[in-house]
Amino acid sequence: MNDEYYMQKAYHEALKALKIDEVPVGAVIVRDGKIIARGHNQRESKNMATAHAETIAIQKACRKLNSWRLDDCTLYTTLEPCLMCTGVIIQSRIQRVVYGAHDTRWLAFDKIIHSQYPVNHIPMVTKDILIDQCSKIIKDYFKQKR
Ligand SMILES: [Zn+2]
Repeated sequence: MNDEYYMQKAYHEALKALKIDEVPVGAVIVRDGKIIARGHNQRESKNMATAHAETIAIQKACRKLNSWRLDDCTLYTTLEPCLMCTGVIIQSRIQRVVYGAHDTRWLAFDKIIHSQYPVNHIPMVTKDILIDQCSKIIKDYFKQKR
C-alpha cells in the first residue's frame, strides 16, 4: 500500500464530514500498514472546537494502543494540519505526517515545523498527496456556502 492508498481512505473520511455539512477534512492513522484510527471534522455537530479530523483520529489511536506515544504511526490528513492539530501531532510524537491540500492562510503545520523556534519533535513530512482532489472538496464546499 502506498501513500495514495491511505490518502484515499482519509478522503473517504472527508466525504463523511461533507455529508453532515462539516468542512470536509478527513484523517487516518496507520501503523504497520494497518489503519488503526479514523476521524473526520465534527466541529459543528459536536459543538466542539477541538473536534478536528486529526485530533479525533489521534485520540482514538492513543486509546487503541493504550499509549500517548504514537512514534511508530503515520498520520494521513486531507488538509495541512492547523496550529492545534500540529501541537497534538508533536505531543503524540507521530513519526510521519502525510497531507494533501495546503493551508496557506494561517499559521499551520509547515510554518510551525520550519519555524526558528525549537520544536521538541519534528515528524517526517510528505505533502501534496492527492492534492487536487483534497483541495477541490474544500473549495467546492466553501463555494456552495457563499
Ligand atoms: Zn486542526
